Amino acid sequence: MDVGFQVANHYLQMSKKPNILIIGGGLAGLICAIQLGKAGFEVKVIERKNYPFHRVCGEYVSNEVLPFLQSIGLNPENWGAAKISKLKVTSPQGKQLENDLDLGAFGISRYRLDWECFQLARSLGVKFLLETKVLDVQFLEEQFQVSTSHETLTADLVIGSFGKRSNLDQKLKRKFFYQRSPYMGVKYHIKTDFPEDLIQLDNFEGGYCGMSKIEDDLYCLCYLTENKHLKSFGTITEMEENVLQKNPHLKKIFNEAEFVWDKPETINEISFEQKSPIENHILMCGDSAGMIAPLCGNGMAMAIHSAKILADEIINFMSDGISKAKRVQLENRYHDLWYKEFALRLKIGRGLQNFFGNKLMTNAAIALLAQFPPVSNFIIKKTHGKAF
Ligand SMILES: Cc1cc2nc3c(=O)[nH]c(=O)nc-3n(C[C@H](O)[C@H](O)[C@H](O)COP(=O)(O)OP(=O)(O)OC[C@H]3O[C@@H](n4cnc5c(N)ncnc54)[C@H](O)[C@@H]3O)c2cc1C
Repeated sequence: MDVGFQVANHYLQMSKKPNILIIGGGLAGLICAIQLGKAGFEVKVIERKNYPFHRVCGEYVSNEVLPFLQSIGLNPENWGAAKISKLKVTSPQGKQLENDLDLGAFGISRYRLDWECFQLARSLGVKFLLETKVLDVQFLEEQFQVSTSHETLTADLVIGSFGKRSNLDQKLKRKFFYQRSPYMGVKYHIKTDFPEDLIQLDNFEGGYCGMSKIEDDLYCLCYLTENKHLKSFGTITEMEENVLQKNPHLKKIFNEAEFVWDKPETINEISFEQKSPIENHILMCGDSAGMIAPLCGNGMAMAIHSAKILADEIINFMSDGISKAKRVQLENRYHDLWYKEFALRLKIGRGLQNFFGNKLMTNAAIALLAQFPPVSNFIIKKTHGKAF
């Protein structure tokens, strides 16, 4: 190849929008895909499952994301989302605390929310490789090589939105992967007689359970518990009877509700340890960058917000091409913005998680906070961000 052609080809490549691979099509990956697809980037999402599917999640979405979702044409109200404006917290012994939520939330299943995001991304020209698992990612000479269960792909940019824990965390030797977590998550959809505007957070020894309305006539009931309870009682039903139902509010729900699935969705190894928003040049967003304790009800809002921030920065830096210098600038800027927006919230989430796992402390805290509503309002405010 002659030198003139090589140089011309080089500049042609530099001035072209980079092609982007997104690993993981949860909320973070899908929102990145929508924003980048709209901006004219060539985007592929690799997702190991096929839509629509259920996930372990409390399905309570902070209203801070509503203006943004509506601005891109996603209106949860049109899908029958519930409007949630009140919070009730109960202690393992049944003490309770009630508050109005300053910002509020909506309730929608992940089955529906992810499906709507997937459809929108596809309509914008985003390509999906479904039922495809990414096995490894290498960064060599300013290019990524991404090996999947079917083929090896190349990309200029890779976004890591593969959730709270993935085979890729092990490949990347991320520290949190090697620290065992004591937590597991369980989720059901139920039918019951319960206020439509309330999220109830019932604590029990070593965990807590959230319940709130979603679309149709369904409620989502989702809890985080310690694996050790399952080990000592053998089955989920036995664990629920012997641990969760010691809280009288939970006993009532379990005895009166109609459970619509034969068995719940479950996940293990839920870790709240610190992570990093960039690893080996992979730009992480959503839970891959850092997971907030479910107690705060803010993980989905953080996934959506971090995806928006990342996509905005890629559009800013890379719309007229990619270079090594631009990659460095993008990585530095995203790193700073991510820490500024999320680091404090994650820290508060970790503190609350440790606090509420303890039976005595939860009882005492709820009794105390019930007498000082401004303090509980202050804590609630600190767990979510401003509307964007
Ligand atoms: C018990 C529990 C309750 C919760 N309740 C709430 C709540 O009420 N409100 C709230 O806002 N947040 C809640 N959260 C948190 C919320 O679910 C997450 O923060 C949110 O789902 C993060 O989105 P994400 O896109 O980062 O990850 P995910 O939604 O987990 O998506 C990651 C995707 O990556 C895919 N993937 C992983 N590895 C690979 C691979 N190697 N190749 C291809 N694909 C891959 C997975 O299949 C998955 O689809 C809860 C979490 C738990 C555990």
